[in-house]
Amino acid sequence: MNTSLTGPAKVGGSFFTPAVATGRCAPRIAEVHIFQYDLPVKNGPYRIASGDVHSLTTTLVKLVADDGTVGWGETCPVGPTYAEAHSGGALAALRALAPGLLGVPVMPVPLHRRMDSLLCGHAYAKAAIDIAAHDLWGRHLGVSVSDLLGGAVTDRVPSYYSIGVAEPDEAAGIAAEKAREGYPRLQVKLGGRAVDADIEALRKVWEAIRGTGMRLAADGNRGWTTRDALRVSRECPDIPMVLEQPCDTLEELARIRPLCHHPIYLDESGTSLNTAITAAGTGLADGFGMKITRIGGLHPMRAFRDMCAARNLPHTCDDAWGGDIIAAACVHMAATVAPELAEGAWIAAPYIEGHYDTSNGIKIQDGHIARPTGAGLGVTPDESIFGPPVVSV
Ligand SMILES: [Mg+2]
Repeated sequence: MNTSLTGPAKVGGSFFTPAVATGRCAPRIAEVHIFQYDLPVKNGPYRIASGDVHSLTTTLVKLVADDGTVGWGETCPVGPTYAEAHSGGALAALRALAPGLLGVPVMPVPLHRRMDSLLCGHAYAKAAIDIAAHDLWGRHLGVSVSDLLGGAVTDRVPSYYSIGVAEPDEAAGIAAEKAREGYPRLQVKLGGRAVDADIEALRKVWEAIRGTGMRLAADGNRGWTTRDALRVSRECPDIPMVLEQPCDTLEELARIRPLCHHPIYLDESGTSLNTAITAAGTGLADGFGMKITRIGGLHPMRAFRDMCAARNLPHTCDDAWGGDIIAAACVHMAATVAPELAEGAWIAAPYIEGHYDTSNGIKIQDGHIARPTGAGLGVTPDESIFGPPVVSV
């Protein structure tokens, strides 16, 4: 379906605040185009506690400014059951937001104020606009997105490999292979099956990587009961791993927190900057798996990074899924994190075919990702592969 919206833009009705009229050093949004594109999973399905992933619909945003500068953003939920986000919701939210963005300066503060005046919540959709605005603003100024975020401290960002829920011997084989490839960190997906199999997989994976220096995260993706999480921790006290989002709710995590042998990282429950601040402030989490689209874009992610630095909490800078646009955003953000707190940037590139930008697509080499060069995100998608926009304003 192609819906072309023309005519005067709705500017948020009574919720619009005049503050967005400032920002004179930035161009203003003149066009918004939204695309959807199916990303097939290579060698799929990719298995996590909440289900199998065969193919994902990603949603892309192209902003065009009044000076002709273009910026791209992206959001790609992992299907409809991983989180309170799905591709249909992203499209609906972006369709509602797009007309009200016309004329807004391409700077994070006025942009987020305008988006929040138009639609409550839907952070994962707003993140695509936020990322596109950072790309556009960087291209306008001739600087990279990591420059806009405060400045990179590395040009070689550590990544980590994520093994989907697999049989113990298969998981151990992949773990050994990824250690040889140079990944500094490994994440093992667990849950959605008997916990005995999870414990066996962890044991075999640890035997495969012990002594390599590779760090290990056991990611239950909310899939364990408190009973199962405590059993994993108690039966694997010798494995130096973190437990990433072992249970579903903050209440469950608070209950097991003082009983676990292992550090606990928050992932899916870190639904906003507010939630993350509370988790850090109450000592609920030893670190975070944080996703740029879940927290609402690069602007709130920057505040999250600085909050974690203040509390000395390690964290990832990644996302649920997506192509070169979201991958570039993750890498630019991760490049600005203090190295001792950087848990890496997971990107979906190893699991999907092809790139939007055949020359500068984001790739993992020896377990690390080169920070893109060039202004903005440093990647320029071939938009012909996306087909016509679903919405144009
Ligand atoms: Mg996780």
